[in-house]
Amino acid sequence: MQIHTYDTVIVGAGGAGMRAAIEATRRSRTAVLTKLYPTRSHTGAAQGGMAAALANVEDDNWEWHTFDTVKGGDYLVDQDAAEILAKEAIDSVLDLEKMGLPFNRTAEGRIDQRRFGGHSRNHGEAPVRRSCYAADRTGHMILQTLYQNCVKEGVEFFNEFYVLDLLLNDVAGVRSTAGVVAYELATGELHVFRAKAVVFASGGNGKFYKVSSNAHTLTGDGQAAAFRRGLPLEDMEFFQFHPTGIWKMGILLTEGARGEGGILRNKDGERFMERYAPVMKDLASRDVVSRAIYTEIREGRGCGPEGDHVHLDLTHLPPEQLDAKLPDITEFARTYLGIEPYTDPVPIQPTAHYAMGGIPTNVLGEVLADNTRVVPGLYAAGEVACVSVHGANRLGTNSLLDINVFGRRAGIAAAEYAAGADLVELPPEPARFVADEVARMRDSTGSERVTDIRRALQETMDRNAMVFRTEQTLKEALEDITALRRRYRNVSVQDKGRRYNTDLLEALELGNLLELAEVLVVSALARKESRGGHYREDYPNRDDVNFMRHTMAYRERDAEGNESIRLDYKPVVITRYQPQERTY
Ligand SMILES: Cc1cc2nc3c(=O)[nH]c(=O)nc-3n(C[C@H](O)[C@H](O)[C@H](O)COP(=O)(O)OP(=O)(O)OC[C@H]3O[C@@H](n4cnc5c(N)ncnc54)[C@H](O)[C@@H]3O)c2cc1C
Repeated sequence: MQIHTYDTVIVGAGGAGMRAAIEATRRSRTAVLTKLYPTRSHTGAAQGGMAAALANVEDDNWEWHTFDTVKGGDYLVDQDAAEILAKEAIDSVLDLEKMGLPFNRTAEGRIDQRRFGGHSRNHGEAPVRRSCYAADRTGHMILQTLYQNCVKEGVEFFNEFYVLDLLLNDVAGVRSTAGVVAYELATGELHVFRAKAVVFASGGNGKFYKVSSNAHTLTGDGQAAAFRRGLPLEDMEFFQFHPTGIWKMGILLTEGARGEGGILRNKDGERFMERYAPVMKDLASRDVVSRAIYTEIREGRGCGPEGDHVHLDLTHLPPEQLDAKLPDITEFARTYLGIEPYTDPVPIQPTAHYAMGGIPTNVLGEVLADNTRVVPGLYAAGEVACVSVHGANRLGTNSLLDINVFGRRAGIAAAEYAAGADLVELPPEPARFVADEVARMRDSTGSERVTDIRRALQETMDRNAMVFRTEQTLKEALEDITALRRRYRNVSVQDKGRRYNTDLLEALELGNLLELAEVLVVSALARKESRGGHYREDYPNRDDVNFMRHTMAYRERDAEGNESIRLDYKPVVITRYQPQERTY
């Protein structure tokens, strides 16, 4: 086991991690640990754009953006945080431009902007052009730009280092950050990284669903590590289903396609969104559109012999526009479906996309230990975190924004904290937990296979904890997950080697997914209302009296080592906008 010592350690080299690293490296001795090469992070798959009220092409301002974010999140958003997001959006985009990001331009040479779901002029009057974009490769451009700037700043990367544990220790009775434990893929060695400040920027956890837009690697390692160490997870029941995944595959076709004028149609060719959202139509928020699609399908108006999808129609858009603005997703339709979007509608269905919940933080990125205290030295930003700017449903283009705004804030806050703090002593045998898990997995002769358990998990989540939920379906999911967690104890991997043992890591990642799926379902069972991405058919209305509050889930173990999840709640921060009925 090797021990390294830094001021600041950042876990993750996606948009949030690299934006944090640029700030932290300027201010402190910083290491970035990442299980992937930085430019392979999921941020690079983001397509449609990044929101900012630049008002380059239409009247707009940050206050409208704040309102749209709060309404989009079905009033579960912390409004102080949403205000920061919308205000700092403008400088965030300009910073990226200065770093060299090639945004699409207007004829006058300004950053071009397009429409996106839920973004409106003057509190819902009409859609507004707020999304800054680089064709349908905005995330790719952001990731490359940030990486180039990290190289320029001399950021120190540890690539293919899997962080598997968070180290905390008591300092005068307060649990404080001591570092992390990482597994090096190339050698199978364990490394302890001592640090005064740690920033989790390890991304989402959408791989517990089968039909998902998420990369194979989005397994919630950061969330699970914090949770196992007794820290809370906030609002995990809120998971976003993006309306337009490629039918059966879930590969994303950006909302920018509808922003450019694409239309959803049912089997009769009807533009059905006019019935569900008379003003915003196809550009209503994602939860609304995904429910509408499934309602069409359930009521027999789905397309195809099975009636199990609807169409995204781009055929009325000029091919030049598709080539210039949506080159990648039109190519996806050709490659994966053999469909020519110039002339034929594209079969789509909702796909699991984004975790609104995560590790709770305040607006500086400091991680909360409970409703009132922070964990000294611990920070989180990006999809792993819950600030909460997305509430019960994130607006499209607000995540690329979130990772830039709160990645930057967390990087600065962590490095400044490290400048004035001492290293916390390591807990005894710091790598023990990870060493035991790795040995258990490698040495096990159990009969269970990772792929079987993962498939079963994804199937029950798709069936029971997707767009529509009821007490019964959620209970079924919970029973399945409990049984799968039991089977998981008996899992073994075929590769017993030390070098590049990806089998072993997939097994550990599966453990994280099982852990987080349970949190999602337990939190969803307790939330007896419908709000944003969490829709309970047995409680179809929003209930502000009882549920206008954030869920805080904690892992508990009794004296015999039996595990359970305890739920607590946290008030929502309301500044300007009292909850209203939400229509689009
Ligand atoms: C297909 C797709 C399209 C999208 N399009 C848009 C869009 O147009 N606009 C928008 O706003 N949002 C979009 N999103 C959402 C947005 O891209 C993501 O929420 C955001 O990029 C997440 O960034 P991140 O930095 O938090 O995480 P990621 O970019 O996922 O990076 C996570 C990093 O953590 C590292 N990591 C993970 N686990 C470990 C571990 N155990 N140890 C060490 N390192 C670890 C990984 O190596 C990686 O570097 C899209 C998402 C998807 C999936």
